[in-house]
Amino acid sequence: MKPLKAINDLFRHNEPLEPEISKVFQDFLARGWYVLGAEVTAFEREFAAYCGTEYALGVANGTDALELALRTAGVEAGDRVALVANAGGYGTFAVNAIGAVPVYVDVDAFSLNMDVLALERALQASSISAIIVTHLYGRLANIEEISRLARDKGVKLIEDCAQAHGALRDGKKAGSWGDLATFSFYPTKNLGALGDGGALTMNAPDVAERAKQLRQYGWTQKYRSTVIGGRNSRLDEVQAAILRVKLPYLDRWNARRRAIFDLYGKLLRHPQITLPAPCGPDHVGHLYVIRCGQRDSLSAHLRTMQVPHDIHFPVPDHRQEMFNGRFAADILPVTESACNEVLTLPCFPEMTDEEVEWVSQHVNQWEA
Ligand SMILES: *Cc1c(COP(=O)(O)O)cnc(C)c1O
Repeated sequence: MKPLKAINDLFRHNEPLEPEISKVFQDFLARGWYVLGAEVTAFEREFAAYCGTEYALGVANGTDALELALRTAGVEAGDRVALVANAGGYGTFAVNAIGAVPVYVDVDAFSLNMDVLALERALQASSISAIIVTHLYGRLANIEEISRLARDKGVKLIEDCAQAHGALRDGKKAGSWGDLATFSFYPTKNLGALGDGGALTMNAPDVAERAKQLRQYGWTQKYRSTVIGGRNSRLDEVQAAILRVKLPYLDRWNARRRAIFDLYGKLLRHPQITLPAPCGPDHVGHLYVIRCGQRDSLSAHLRTMQVPHDIHFPVPDHRQEMFNGRFAADILPVTESACNEVLTLPCFPEMTDEEVEWVSQHVNQWEA
């Protein structure tokens, strides 16, 4: 076995698609249309059908998608947005970009997704304009309960599906519950472009129309900027064409990620390590994240053994230096301990069983 290069080896992922992708580039050059064209429109139609939503709109990346979702939902400077602090900071960046205020909600220890009771308390304690719920590591949050709360309180709901393309519960896919949902097609995501890309999904025609205007200078007609908050965030034709090649493979890739998840669950045995809960159809195995109280020691061991690993994510949003303490949070005990304990092991669709066994052996051999 050759050494594993990364927790997610993108070369091994994309290389088998070389004939299809080369054809995309040839056709793209021959067509001579580069931004928001026929490929984007076709991808939007196919991706909406895949997600089970009425509309999908391509944008430049997943963080822009979050910002545009907030703007589309009518969130304004000074408004309060409920979200988690353990999901990489993307939601906070979007909230910060429009001058809104993040209200951090703790996560539950089982899934590390938004805790419904904590959300309920946050909604009671102050006026909240919108909720961003992240389906972290590929596992759907308790989206039914969260949608019910949002509906009862008249609060807009945005699903961040950047790690959960295709996650399915009771026949509904990630991105089909919220008023709006956001996706990233960053190369490491379950559906990844060969560069940056993102999308919004929604069901209401007026919401789709507004988001479409906001992504292109607030235009209601060419060169007529009307909608406040309009900006430029578009998906490239070539990325849309590549995403169209890849979308038909997504379910197979997700199934393989789940199989890797199950295999780790069978092979990993260590008294100092907590494994993630098993994964069903509502989890697309984006990241295999274990928890360990002596993470530094485990990480040093894995580094010595040349086992690729990473930490998603080490710093909760309210402690990021760039926010300079402005986004102080109430005590978030589960979030804080998770940030100190999580460690991500390799998981990508082309990973072999032998490689999963090799990683597992090295983890099991760690002497705490
Ligand atoms: C990757 C990611 C994003 C941001 O996507 P970009 O395309 O990198 O801007 C947002 N939310 C989550 C949960 C992500 O994992």
